[in-house]
Amino acid sequence: MAPPRLKHATPEETLVAYYRLLRTHGLNDAHSGNVSLCDGARVWITPTGACADLLEPGEILSFPLAEAPPQGSSLDAPLHRETYRRNPEARAVFHAHGVYALALSLVSERIHPIDFEGAYYFSDVPILDVPYADYLRLAPGRVAETLRDHPLCLVRGHGLYAWGRTPDQAYKWISSFESSAHLVALARLLGAAEPKSP
Ligand SMILES: [Zn+2]
Repeated sequence: MAPPRLKHATPEETLVAYYRLLRTHGLNDAHSGNVSLCDGARVWITPTGACADLLEPGEILSFPLAEAPPQGSSLDAPLHRETYRRNPEARAVFHAHGVYALALSLVSERIHPIDFEGAYYFSDVPILDVPYADYLRLAPGRVAETLRDHPLCLVRGHGLYAWGRTPDQAYKWISSFESSAHLVALARLLGAAEPKSP
């Protein structure tokens, strides 16, 4: 598959490209996760139930940041909106279900990457507990509040939320953290109860 050309892409084309990249690189399954962009006044977001392999730019929804998301938006749209409202620097919010990040969230209180790059970017990654039964009501406030002080956070058993000043930065956080989580998991499997870090 040819890499997407995004230099002159519309917000809709940009979101489709990044949503597909998350799927292509194993950071989401066919229909999981969601991505959004914001220009400070308007939000663009993937629709609920979107298939990353088949999504087209015409299916992306958009709405004013000051208003509630329209019907058909991702169920996480209120969370994205709340993140932009509390953190004006955020221009992109990505959500993914990286398997190693998720697995570690089930057995850890927080995650401290042990590789050089991971420790540099995310010295301390919070894991939030949000009851599944009340997720849509509680997650927007809790995640958005946490993302004021962290580039990303995990929700235990669910997935990763990251924000960026650009879509590329949000993608970088998701991709880089999954790599760090993979390394932590491997180090534990290789016998280090508490992996060493120089
Ligand atoms: Zn999810």
